[in-house]
Amino acid sequence: MKCQWSWASLGMALLGACLVVGCAGATAPESGTLVIHLATIVNGRSGSRVENATIVIEGGRITSIGDEIPSSLPLNAQVINGHGKWVVPGFIDVHVHDASELYLRTMLAWGVTSIHLMPNVPPESPLAMEQASQAAQARSPRLQVTAMFTGEFPDNLLPGVSQFRKPKSESEAREAVRSLYTSGYQQIKIIQDDSRLWTGADNLALRFDKAVFDALIAEAHANKMRVYVHTTQRIDTKMAIEAGIEAFMHGTMDTQLEADYWKQMLAARTVWTPAYHALYFYGDKKSYAPRVLGDPRLTALLPEEQHEQLKTQTRSEAPIVFDALQTLVDRTQAYANNIAKNTQGAQAAGVPIAVGSDGGPAGVSTHLEMELLQENGLTATEVLAAATYGGALAIGRQEEIGSVETGKLADLVVLNADPGVDIRNCREIEWVIKGGTAYKPRELVFSEPSRN
Ligand SMILES: [Zn+2]
Repeated sequence: MKCQWSWASLGMALLGACLVVGCAGATAPESGTLVIHLATIVNGRSGSRVENATIVIEGGRITSIGDEIPSSLPLNAQVINGHGKWVVPGFIDVHVHDASELYLRTMLAWGVTSIHLMPNVPPESPLAMEQASQAAQARSPRLQVTAMFTGEFPDNLLPGVSQFRKPKSESEAREAVRSLYTSGYQQIKIIQDDSRLWTGADNLALRFDKAVFDALIAEAHANKMRVYVHTTQRIDTKMAIEAGIEAFMHGTMDTQLEADYWKQMLAARTVWTPAYHALYFYGDKKSYAPRVLGDPRLTALLPEEQHEQLKTQTRSEAPIVFDALQTLVDRTQAYANNIAKNTQGAQAAGVPIAVGSDGGPAGVSTHLEMELLQENGLTATEVLAAATYGGALAIGRQEEIGSVETGKLADLVVLNADPGVDIRNCREIEWVIKGGTAYKPRELVFSEPSRN
């Protein structure tokens, strides 16, 4: 059944809970006024709290945060009763590969209002898609789309890799970056990994020579483009830090990094993304499935077939995603331990941390990554900072998103449980607000996309 969102249905949903002012003559939601009345704000940037706060949203942005509803509100303003609820910034996932409509819409339902998208299989017009996703009414997180570079990476490990750019010389590298810039890209991602840690085999893939690697980054920076790097080993991590990249897409898995590395990252404002989730999702399916199935909040929005798939996984021997990863399960925990030590090093040094899931069920994987950050030594408040402001820093949008502040885009999540007590409380979502448009999670997943 088609079930379109409308002012009237929002009004009906709110009537029981709070004061809703009339719906007659409603304007388009994007430019309308939305008020969250008397909620507790938990700010991603600092973790600070404001109790009994009233947030006013107009034209898609937060226009005031105060104690009471201003008297000058328009008649058609919508009011969400914030009593007994927590408001946090929309979550940001900096490591996403799936560009399908349902995947993106489901991520939004999970409160993920912005993502860094590295499509393995590029959509027809990635930049047009990125542009369209910025609208409050687009049922997708705001996208930041990146094109990928790799020395080489086995096709059986990373589907779509054949389409990645693979410059062989400095001049080819510079030329490739310039052509992306000319076509409108604002960032690149470089995979610098011989895949040894994933596959357990040596020299499966070629890394870039240092000269080519440095040329890619220098040319991107000369054009004010951002550079994201996938590394898993110390040797490549060091090279990326020295080149002053914007953000890592994985935590270093082979060793513990020393204090010097964090100092350099802090100086270059490089963001650290652990991506524990990738290890468990790709390498240890048997422990992965129970993690999802063990929390009914995580399965609430799962389509039936995915639910069944996960149940099957818990029963099979050692299910894996790709054949090349047969032996990863033997090393998963050791890698996770190294990532944990490194992430604690980053946190202690003040290096910003971001949340990146790298595959898995839409949105569920983002929340699992948040759980894994908490499980491996960060407090719930520190994880919330990573999932919001840290992500905004990673994608360079901290002026617009990542915290609940006057003037910023109204990308917010209204929760029914306190995220500062346990980060898994971020799964209890009442409303997802993107640019001032409020959605119920179930409606986003189970109703057909709006045609307007
Ligand atoms: Zn990835």
